[in-house]
Amino acid sequence: MDTLTKAQRSERMARIRSKNTAPELAVRQALFKLGYRYQLHRKDLPGKPDLVFPSRKKIVFVHGCFWHAHNSCSVANMPKSRTEFWQAKFQRNVERDKLNKRALRRMGWSTLTVWECEIKRPDRLLRRVTGYLGPTGAKVKKGRSS
Ligand SMILES: [Zn+2]
Repeated sequence: MDTLTKAQRSERMARIRSKNTAPELAVRQALFKLGYRYQLHRKDLPGKPDLVFPSRKKIVFVHGCFWHAHNSCSVANMPKSRTEFWQAKFQRNVERDKLNKRALRRMGWSTLTVWECEIKRPDRLLRRVTGYLGPTGAKVKKGRSS
């Protein structure tokens, strides 16, 4: 069912693409409550990662399922019109995500991708993210890395 007009569709795309999306805010707020501190959308890093944890050298991306073409995900429904156009667009996004992550890895960052659809099960999602980040209270060594 693709009942959106072209204008509605692009409005929706613009919303999805922007920073500070609802899923991203949900993840941020939950992590903040747990005591995690992070930087947002650092422009000096490939892909302007959503959440950056500098002392841990870790990054969390919060991806919209639609825009980033989450595999076999019901939220990521392919539009029924102009399918080829969208397919190409998604393909580029996925490719760019891949390149950004690779570049970050080379710079010594590790990354975790969280999907919009995972927000529906917040407990599980948070376990995954905190498991990745490690405990908040832990004294993260500030090591004078050269
Ligand atoms: Zn999804």
